[in-house]
Amino acid sequence: MAELSFFTGTMDCGKSTLALQMDHNHAARGRVGRLFTSHDRAAAATLSSRLGLTAGAIEAPSEFDFWKYVVGSLTSGARIDYLICDEAQFYTRDQIEQLARIVDELRIDAFAFGLLTDFRSRLFPGSARLVELADRVQVLQVESLGWCGKRATHNARAVDGEMVVAGEVIVVGDPADGVGPRPEIGYEVLCRQHHRRRMTAARAGRAAVARCAAVRRAGEVSSVMRYVHHGALCA
Ligand SMILES: [Zn+2]
Repeated sequence: MAELSFFTGTMDCGKSTLALQMDHNHAARGRVGRLFTSHDRAAAATLSSRLGLTAGAIEAPSEFDFWKYVVGSLTSGARIDYLICDEAQFYTRDQIEQLARIVDELRIDAFAFGLLTDFRSRLFPGSARLVELADRVQVLQVESLGWCGKRATHNARAVDGEMVVAGEVIVVGDPADGVGPRPEIGYEVLCRQHHRRRMTAARAGRAAVARCAAVRRAGEVSSVMRYVHHGALCA
């Protein structure tokens, strides 16, 4: 029986690597698949992993209809045994329902890979629909670690180094029609506690340096103790 599977985890947990591995394994068995991605960073519709592997993929913007695409391909004589759907958190709820319909009515496997929650720690609509509909949901076991060394379970967005919890869920491309320098947007994985406290690595570093400076001024702690407590941050 065909299945709709959802593989999820934080950033950096190897989702795209697994997506490419999954494609390789099925192709090696003579099966024919299609790879999809959404909001690809390179805007070149490639599926790329942080380990350096890449593969060509079909970009699936929100108006893309998976059902129509697959039915059209089959009708024109193509063979499709499975779909690899990366960055599935960006898919619309309708698109997830199209995938479920493809699995049920066309008996084609659909493997979706994506984040569960956004930088506000809310479910992405597409991911929520996947959790509701998937035959299996698997949380990837490669653990990412936050700057504090704890298991990173939350995605943070930083604008010019400061963590934000409001704003557009999806920031696409270059908002360069504005005037002045464009804010630098970065993402970081954090443990829940530091996500709640909005403590990114940069902010934690600054806080530690400030603490060290205060200790030096007060002269309360020996240099050895300072080193033990704050290590290289004091250097
Ligand atoms: Zn932490």
